Amino acid sequence: MTTTSNNSHPEKIGFIGLGIMGRRMARNLLKAGFSLSVHDLNREPVEELLTLGAADAGSVAGAAKANIVITMLPDTPDVEAVVLGEGGLASEMQPGSILIDMSSISPTATQAMAQELAARGIEMLDAPVSGGFQGAENATLSIMVGGKADVLERCRPVLEAMGKTISHIGGHGAGQVCKICNQVAVAINIQAVAEALTLAKKNGVDPAKVRTALLGGFAQSRALDLHGQRFLEGNYAAGFRVTLQRKDLRLALENGSATGTVLPATALIQQLYGVLDATGRANLDNSALALLLQEMSGVQVAST
Ligand code: NAD
Repeated sequence: MTTTSNNSHPEKIGFIGLGIMGRRMARNLLKAGFSLSVHDLNREPVEELLTLGAADAGSVAGAAKANIVITMLPDTPDVEAVVLGEGGLASEMQPGSILIDMSSISPTATQAMAQELAARGIEMLDAPVSGGFQGAENATLSIMVGGKADVLERCRPVLEAMGKTISHIGGHGAGQVCKICNQVAVAINIQAVAEALTLAKKNGVDPAKVRTALLGGFAQSRALDLHGQRFLEGNYAAGFRVTLQRKDLRLALENGSATGTVLPATALIQQLYGVLDATGRANLDNSALALLLQEMSGVQVAST
């Protein structure tokens, strides 16, 4: 299938990191008519994007030729390597251009990179997202932005091609702070849904009926809807990998420690993610918390 880009926007975009999220976000930029060059260490998603009308940037330096560069990488060291490493964005991007980092990474590392880039006349927004691969696929992501308001306004059409809710949270790093708050709420919510449906099953009550009833009441949540359905199906294929959620909760706990915020439920769930990692399940979906609970309770929520 070929999607022809009409390149109706003045901004040229470089996109680095075409994983579960990035490849879908890049597709939506093409659909919206942006001129896009793409780069990933993995060739397969690059080839797919080329068939849809993207250009092959070939390297980080190649992607840096664009006016706006988007990064969607796993963790803080990955973004630091791409931005500050040899041949990285800090040395290759032109003054007046903008880096939008949409990865979920450390707020303090983000502030340091923004400062380094500003010294070279390059603007930066931190713009991590929530909404999962479904949100990336459907361009309905919630995008949490840190950085200057005027830079956000210039980038708004780009962000609107990938997301539905664009929130300006504050200065550099504020988007990343918002993201760790989001992850704390999501992880605890997944654990809550897992506990509720496991309890139903242990009582001999149909967890599918419980999920439907709860969706109509105060316990309604996206975690109950999407992850509750996963638990009923026994489907733990990522999605959002345990490794990445573990990284996000580590960032939240580090931040809690630095700011004197007590996060007891987050700390407990982080231990459970450690168990999944130690038992070879780091690449399952982050909803695999339910697997542990079922193992510990000696029950299976899925009917097959
Ligand atoms: P992923 O691991 O599927 O994709 C990351 C991609 O980056 C991979 O294709 C990898 O090859 C590429 N990459 C790594 N280092 C690179 C480098 N130096 N140069 C070029 N490419 C490089 O991860 P993902 O699930 O797409 O998540 C990306 C970010 O978005 C993470 O920070 C994650 O926490 C966040 N996030 C993910 C989800 C989700 O549901 N998956 C939801 C919200 C936010």
